[in-house]
Amino acid sequence: GKTEPVKKAAIPKVRLSDVAGQENAKAEVGELLEFLRDAERYQRLGAEVPHGILLQGPPGTGKTLIARALAGEAGVPFFHMSASEFIEMFVGVGASRVRNLFDAAKKAQPSIIFIDELDSVGRVRGAGLGGGHDEREQTLNQILAEMDGFEGHEAVVVLAATNRPDVLDPALLRPGRFDRHVTLELPDLAGREAILKVHCRSVPLAGDVDLHKVATGTPGFSGADLKNLVNEAAMAAARENLTKVEARHFDQMRDRIMMGAVRTLAIHE
Ligand code: ATP
Repeated sequence: GKTEPVKKAAIPKVRLSDVAGQENAKAEVGELLEFLRDAERYQRLGAEVPHGILLQGPPGTGKTLIARALAGEAGVPFFHMSASEFIEMFVGVGASRVRNLFDAAKKAQPSIIFIDELDSVGRVRGAGLGGGHDEREQTLNQILAEMDGFEGHEAVVVLAATNRPDVLDPALLRPGRFDRHVTLELPDLAGREAILKVHCRSVPLAGDVDLHKVATGTPGFSGADLKNLVNEAAMAAARENLTKVEARHFDQMRDRIMMGAVRTLAIHE
């Protein structure tokens, strides 16, 4: 079929040092660095390196970030596919897009493929109304076929992200497919402080800002929430024509974000 060519994949600028906390996840993902940097050394020895890694964890915990950081650190191109894009597509388009993406990544190897929201196409099959022939299922089948089609030595690592590992079709998790699982957790106190530090690197802070205190006051915040908090605080200071962000801006915005979260919860009930 005729589909759009895969966009040229760039080498991300992010590094693993931009991912704060998440030490376990960084260590596990980091094991692939050597392989991506010098695939030939492994290939000469006939060593088979895992191709499929499932990143699981709540929204905003840095799954996309860590995948990009691995590519950036290894200096390899990053091919990104958002699985939810395929849901509304014409039959056949999703599958051929998947094929094109894997072909492009193989041509550019060593390389990384990142599949976001894997659960949107990867739910248990046969559960939909399409009687097993719908678009979603064809896309999923193509992903499975591509994972099986790797030669052991090919230097393409496929990372897939989900916050619903429980609904995934077990076929995805079989050996040779997404058989390695890395869990990202919501950050603890030290993790939140580290994330705040990363996002405040280029934000001028007034002397009364204590990021440890901000971290103490933001239990349950994800990395994405904390990034948002820093940005909202900076916006508030800019609106007041200040040259530095003050502690009260963090307090105000934290309260606002928390109330927003409470409101959202109330609506869902
Ligand atoms: P989703 O499941 O909603 O797609 P995700 O787990 O992929 O979320 P990201 O998109 O990687 O989360 O995170 C959003 C943003 O939050 C990142 O671009 C980054 O700026 C910030 N962030 C999240 N976690 C961290 C972290 N551990 N260190 C630094 N920044 C983080």
